[in-house]
Amino acid sequence: MMNTFSPSGVRRRDLIRAGAQLAAVVAVSPMAKALARVQGGGAAAAPPPPATGTQLVLLGTQGGPNVNLRRSQASNAVLVDGRPYLVDCGYGAVRSLVAAGIGYAQLGTAFITHLHDDHTVDLAALLSLQWTGNRMQPTDIYGPDGTAAMVDAALAFMKGNTDIRVTDEGRTTRPEQLFHGHDVAAATAPVQVFKDDRMTVTASENTHFPDRAKASMRYRSLAYRLQTATRSIVFTGDTAYSKNLVALATGADLFVCEIIDQPQYEANLLLAQQAKAQGRENSVAQHIVETHSNNADVGRMAAEAGVKTVVLSHLLPGSNRNVVAEYPDSSYIDGVRKTFQGQVIVGRDLMVL
Ligand SMILES: [Zn+2]
Ligand SMILES: [Zn+2]
Repeated sequence: MMNTFSPSGVRRRDLIRAGAQLAAVVAVSPMAKALARVQGGGAAAAPPPPATGTQLVLLGTQGGPNVNLRRSQASNAVLVDGRPYLVDCGYGAVRSLVAAGIGYAQLGTAFITHLHDDHTVDLAALLSLQWTGNRMQPTDIYGPDGTAAMVDAALAFMKGNTDIRVTDEGRTTRPEQLFHGHDVAAATAPVQVFKDDRMTVTASENTHFPDRAKASMRYRSLAYRLQTATRSIVFTGDTAYSKNLVALATGADLFVCEIIDQPQYEANLLLAQQAKAQGRENSVAQHIVETHSNNADVGRMAAEAGVKTVVLSHLLPGSNRNVVAEYPDSSYIDGVRKTFQGQVIVGRDLMVL
């Protein structure tokens, strides 16, 4: 299908689809000077993002493990004076990095919220492509317990490619020398997990994994707050309502929050009740209603934290339909606004805020 671009490079058809809500955001927001850009798959790479300031780029806004032709799996980039940082790396992250004009060669730091594959599955591709593309600087991946082992497994996945190219192309640096995973603490109060000359990152455990599951596994789920000289951006990760998250997000400029649409939430609530009545405590439906956030949860957390702007991403699961229309933006926004009076933006892949 042909894409139609306006002179400014914004695809008109998708802008129309994004609707008046996005237009209003661009018109009235303090972020109006930032480029709000909505593109679909197949578009040419965007020009590089601005070299100064802090920008959030939504790389993938789909919730859950489906492969969706309109949205990539969970992934975000934050650019600080042109330097990219990654938060989550679901399927499609690498393509979106290229489409956003960021690329993957210069990416040296990534944060993983939890080890569900819709947040990690492009990591092996990212590291392999970086090494094959001759990246010679380290890439560090931070995440909850199990992240370092996952990076080691990605290196194992790459071993054949590494051995072949070392032997055949005379390469002298192996990926093991460059790519490192770091397990960070899952705590109830914010803990600093990263700091460099442009950013400080703190993390708290959220409520994506129920206590009965945590009793039988070491895996945990995190939310991150990225603080730069000019902005604070909180990534909720996947979570239900979380007091830890409210504390982490207090006063944040951007609250990038997952959301499950209300009809799907209610349908899964019914299925979970039926499963429980049949003696099944654990089910996919129970997981969805117990460990994700509906409109009311998002609005409540945003209001209690006093954030300035809510950015809805990881849209679950109504947005995953490739054929029927998406759940309308207005319904998400109206639901959140019942308790939160600030700005609410429904995310789209490659939106820049
Ligand atoms: Zn997820
Ligand atoms: Zn998850």
